Amino acid sequence: MSIDDLPPLREVIATHDLAAKKSLGQNFLLDLNLTAKIARLAGDLSGSDVLEIGPGPGGLTRGLLAEGARRVLAIEKDPRCMAALADIAAVYPGQLHAINGDALNVNPRDHLTPPIKIAANLPYNVGTELLVRWLTPPEWPPFWTSLTLMFQLEVAKRIVAAPGNKAYGRLALLAQWRTDARIVMELPPEAFSPPPKVNSAVVHLTALPAPRFPANPGTLNKVVAAAFNQRRKMLRSALKSVSPDIEDHLNTVGIKPTERGEQVELEAFCALARSLDAG
Ligand code: SAM
Repeated sequence: MSIDDLPPLREVIATHDLAAKKSLGQNFLLDLNLTAKIARLAGDLSGSDVLEIGPGPGGLTRGLLAEGARRVLAIEKDPRCMAALADIAAVYPGQLHAINGDALNVNPRDHLTPPIKIAANLPYNVGTELLVRWLTPPEWPPFWTSLTLMFQLEVAKRIVAAPGNKAYGRLALLAQWRTDARIVMELPPEAFSPPPKVNSAVVHLTALPAPRFPANPGTLNKVVAAAFNQRRKMLRSALKSVSPDIEDHLNTVGIKPTERGEQVELEAFCALARSLDAG
C-alpha cells in the first residue's frame, strides 16, 4: 500500500465510526490539499522529528509524512482514532509512532530525537495550556525549534498582538519574548468538519536562540500574569501583590506607575522583572 492508496478522510471517518465529539474539541480537516499546505508552513521537515498533538483521523499526519518528516510522534486522546493512524503507519514503516493518551501527560522527549518541530491542529480545550508550557520551560532554547499551530483566530491574534492592541497580554509577551511569532494562514469555519462557530488561524513560532531581553522566566511570568489579571487596573495596584515596593521598581525602570499593562512594551516588562530580582 502507498500513500495514494489510503482512502479519502471522509471514508476513514465512516469506516472507523469517528463521529466528531465536541468534548474532545474535534473539528477535523478533511481536505488533504489543505493539510499538505499546513504541513509545508512548518518549513523543511526532512531533517526533523515532528510532534503532532491530536491527529484525529490523520489528515495533517499524512501531510507531515508526505512532506518528508523524518519521524512523527502523534499523541491522540481518542482511542477510536488509533486504527486509522495504524493504517497510515503501515504506509510509512518506522516513521509514525501513534500514542493513545492525553498530550498533557505524555513527555514527548522520551520518544523523539532533536531537531524537533511541533505541528498541530490543536484541540481548543487544551491548546493554550500546551502553548504556555512550550513557551515557559526554565531553560532556553527549548526542546523544539518551531511550532506550527492552529488556534481560534482570536487566540492567534493574542499571540502576535502589539502593545496598545486589546488582544495584547500575557500570551503575546510570553510568545514574543522567546520566539518570532506570525499568523501564516486564516481559515473559515467551513474548512472543518463539523464547522466550529469561529474563524481559525495557523500561527508559526520559531524559537529564538536566546530570549530577546534578559529576565528570569519565573519572575517575568509572575509580573505579566499579575499585570493582565485585571487588565484595566493601573500597574501600581495590579502589581502590588508582586512587591510592596512596586512603585519604586516601576519608576526605576521608567514605567509610569499609573500606566496599564496593555501600554507597556516587552523590553520594559523584562527590565521590571530584573529590577524585582535585584531586590
Ligand atoms: N488533527 C486533526 C485534524 O486536523 O483533522 C484533528 C484536529 S481536532 C481540532 C483535535 C484533536 O485532538 C481531536 O482528534 C481530539 O480527539 C484530540 N484531543 C483532544 N484533547 C486531547 C488531548 N488532551 N491530548 C491529545 N489529543 C487530544
